[in-house]
Amino acid sequence: MKSTLHISLGLVLFGSTLAAQAPVPAQKPAPRTAATGPAAKPPGAKAGDPQLPYTPSLDLTAMDRTADPCVDFFQFACGGWVVHNPIPPDQSSWSAYGKMQDENRTLLRALLEQAGKGGASRTPNQQKIGDYYSACIDEATIDARGASPLGPQLAAIADIKSVSDMARVVALSHARMLARGSVLFGVGAEQDAKDSSETIAAVDQAGLGLPDRDYYLKDDAKSTALRDRYVDHVARVLQLLGDTPEQAAAGARTVLRIEGELARGHMSRVDRRNPDNTYHRMPRASLTEMMPSWPWDRYFEQMGIAQIKDLNITSPGYFTALERQLTTVPLSDWKTYLRWQTALLAAPYLSAAFVNADFDFFSRTLTGARELQPRWKRCVGRVDRHLGEALGQVYVEKYFTADTRARTLRMVKQIETAMEEDIKSLEWMSAETKTQALEKLHGVTNKIGHPATWRDYSAVTIAPGDFFGDAANAMGFEVRRHLNKIGKPLVRGEWYLTPPTVNANYDPQMNEINFPAGVLQPPAFDPKMDDAPNYGNTGGTIGHELTHGFDDEGRRFDARGNLRDWWIEADAREFERRASCISDQYSSYIAVDDVHVNGKLTLGEDVADLGGLILAYRAWLSETASKKPVARDGLTPSQRFFVGYGQSWCSSSRPETLRMRAITDPHSPEKYRTNGVLSNMPEFSRAFSCKAGQPMVKAPVCRVW
Ligand SMILES: [Zn+2]
Repeated sequence: MKSTLHISLGLVLFGSTLAAQAPVPAQKPAPRTAATGPAAKPPGAKAGDPQLPYTPSLDLTAMDRTADPCVDFFQFACGGWVVHNPIPPDQSSWSAYGKMQDENRTLLRALLEQAGKGGASRTPNQQKIGDYYSACIDEATIDARGASPLGPQLAAIADIKSVSDMARVVALSHARMLARGSVLFGVGAEQDAKDSSETIAAVDQAGLGLPDRDYYLKDDAKSTALRDRYVDHVARVLQLLGDTPEQAAAGARTVLRIEGELARGHMSRVDRRNPDNTYHRMPRASLTEMMPSWPWDRYFEQMGIAQIKDLNITSPGYFTALERQLTTVPLSDWKTYLRWQTALLAAPYLSAAFVNADFDFFSRTLTGARELQPRWKRCVGRVDRHLGEALGQVYVEKYFTADTRARTLRMVKQIETAMEEDIKSLEWMSAETKTQALEKLHGVTNKIGHPATWRDYSAVTIAPGDFFGDAANAMGFEVRRHLNKIGKPLVRGEWYLTPPTVNANYDPQMNEINFPAGVLQPPAFDPKMDDAPNYGNTGGTIGHELTHGFDDEGRRFDARGNLRDWWIEADAREFERRASCISDQYSSYIAVDDVHVNGKLTLGEDVADLGGLILAYRAWLSETASKKPVARDGLTPSQRFFVGYGQSWCSSSRPETLRMRAITDPHSPEKYRTNGVLSNMPEFSRAFSCKAGQPMVKAPVCRVW
């Protein structure tokens, strides 16, 4: 998952990360779990550099040993963690991963403060990240400017006299403000799903303020109340732009009406999981036929892609719906919608009045966070997002080692071997499909740590004291960089996750797994611990990412990342049958109140969790076959493997967040990512001597890989 809002820049339709990403960048240091060892000095750090607090990959204080592991393993592995780690007030959820990311930010902050001091010795990258960070942190200057950075955009909106004028304004927005979403629709470059060596243009559904179409379409009491709060928020922002309370209230109702109609044209998240549904490569003229009111030639020219002859229209129904709106909604209403969307996308770069209003609705109301996170954390997040490889280059020089890369790669190879053996031994798959599956497995590229070639930011101007301008320049650079790929040969070495990211992913069109430096640290990967918890934790993650190549979405792409059906029909049917066992299992779980997990939305992640841990377990057995691991802390080696896995999911979430994630997040709640997986593994029930009929022993088990 890339973001809870629509991505219009460098369209990445497919691909799955390990963990949910926070809907708003997070956080504040939480009370630490008691460390059981000394603080680990980061590998490349010098004396005086900040250090991360050390949390081992198996943390005894995080456990609740009064709980019965055969009844609720999440409680057994994480009960202590939940008690010792209350959700910080500026967080909507809190987790082992969230803490890692939060602690990692302190390292990044030190790098940025150092770079922000200026001086002739700075490299060009240090100048950019340092000056951007300093401009971001300078709230007095930002507040003094109020809404004035939006002046030129608002003036252009006020001048709109035709759809053609409107298209010009929308193109200006698409050319730079793409970080949070996209006005009206999205445009970008993507790999052709059926010829992954080709990069083509794509247009996608977008244009909403709320995180998903369901927020506009559902009619239960909670959804209706939330829409009322949303209208209040839009009105508040329109007042900040200068409307009277009456104008703002009427304008906000107009916005909800327009966005509601756009939402009706959106394809659902579940339908978008099937890549065939989002692949409609068509001649450019087809888009003009679908949406004749829009001056496409001028629009593409303004975006710098006048040359395109065809493109992927991911969601044709959306563009037909948009045409209907363009011919019925009066221009004065569109102007209101555009003013709102402009302020929505720009809010993080404006004064405190905008930032606070944005926090109140999108974080407090939607996710349950209670406090805005400190400015420096938001600014670290912005630099990572906008100049991520400039920051990442400085970060890995100090904090990532060749040894960590080598150890990770060794584990990856072992897990690939386990998957090869698994595929060969599957009883339900024919020899013909197996040959194709093995070809795909052997074609996986492993990206560990950081890119081999760093992004060149020399074309980005970052000036001191101009946060809004710096952000617009950095985002404009990214838009041009992506659109410039159209029609050019694919660059294979590029990374979509930044090196400090505490997450991992699989990209089916590149057929590659990505493990950034940020995720290869304790507690996820702990060089001081025995093998068992490391294989349960990071090994499970590697297996998870690898299995994504063979989940409900990934299995539709071949070894070269092309959308092509390589399955014998009977094998595909058997896959579907086995996968539906898992989606039925997860759909029976309650996310919050009476809201169930949507097992069809979470299917890919649930299949990857189960398959991944089975592979990691086998890899661990082969690694330790000759080592004779011994019991420690009253836990047998295999028990330590499973506790290591369980502790990778220690977390708590506010009810608002659980409700939002049930609609938007392809990952199941962490409790079920633990218990749902382990209850399907006889290896687990043997390790804890669980008995038939106990909650952690599912019968019959679900099994795909
Ligand atoms: Zn995943």
